Amino acid sequence: MSSQWIYLGGEFVNKNEAVVSVYDHGFLYGDGVFEGIRVYEGNIFKLDEHLDRLYDSAKSIMLSIPYEKEELESIIAETVRKNELQTAYIRVVISRGSGNLGLDPVSCSNPRVVVIAEALALFPKELYERGVRLASVSSRRNRPDVLPPQVKSLNYLNNILVKMEANQAGVDEALMLNDQGYVTEGSADNIFIVKKGTIYTPPTYLGALEGITRNAIMDLARKKGYDVKEQPFTRHDVYVADEVFLTGTAAEVIAAVEVDQREIGDGKPGVVTSHLLSEFRKVTTTDGYKVYEKNQAHVS
Ligand code: PMP
Repeated sequence: MSSQWIYLGGEFVNKNEAVVSVYDHGFLYGDGVFEGIRVYEGNIFKLDEHLDRLYDSAKSIMLSIPYEKEELESIIAETVRKNELQTAYIRVVISRGSGNLGLDPVSCSNPRVVVIAEALALFPKELYERGVRLASVSSRRNRPDVLPPQVKSLNYLNNILVKMEANQAGVDEALMLNDQGYVTEGSADNIFIVKKGTIYTPPTYLGALEGITRNAIMDLARKKGYDVKEQPFTRHDVYVADEVFLTGTAAEVIAAVEVDQREIGDGKPGVVTSHLLSEFRKVTTTDGYKVYEKNQAHVS
């Protein structure tokens, strides 16, 4: 690919020219929302669900996205087409836009819409074969009554700080607890445990993003006959689980084989995790929006 086209506030611009103002409140205050979406062989996986979450996040923070959902859907698809991508990662960002230096969003009259699509660097295959290591961290998940984790906002410092703690502990990912000590999620993925054949994941009200992959895995698992429960659990439950796995747009479904230096199961990705990963991969190329099949109106 010779150049990369980025959708920025109404037009496609070259990557080198895709810049936003230093007065944009997304930059100054993390005031905005975003989505990370994946394209599998020309299929934008679960695009509707990502758009629903984006518009819900925006509504929650009273940010008005200047497009109808269908328009934004076309813009996203056109960004993939314009960059001639088949397997890609898409980042959609809606920031509050430029204003003055005060934090009051009243000075921002034009929310800024950015869509970036680029070739995806896949997680290495070995990571799925060996699994990842987790450590619980000292920073707690944002309380839902302080900054709701269900809002996928541009304010990711909570997640960044725990990722740094995981790095310092020499493990792959952080295990975040809420202020009551219940397990919530990783820095950028949801968590599941498997015990005696039942699959558990924390309810999002405890402090987790309602992951698109999380929901897809719950659906698939139920279809395959597993008992799936959204139920609070603690670190202890994680330590003694038969299997632990993480889900996310980037990670897909990945086993966690060690948590706080306790080996999970026999220290290898378990059968339920492997089964769900293979079922998940069966739907990634079909469930969503086919970029090259639909004859969408051209966006400038
Ligand atoms: N939790 C957090 C905090 C995340 O940032 C992500 C990545 N979007 C996830 C969970 C997983 O969500 P999804 O499956 O929608 O990618």
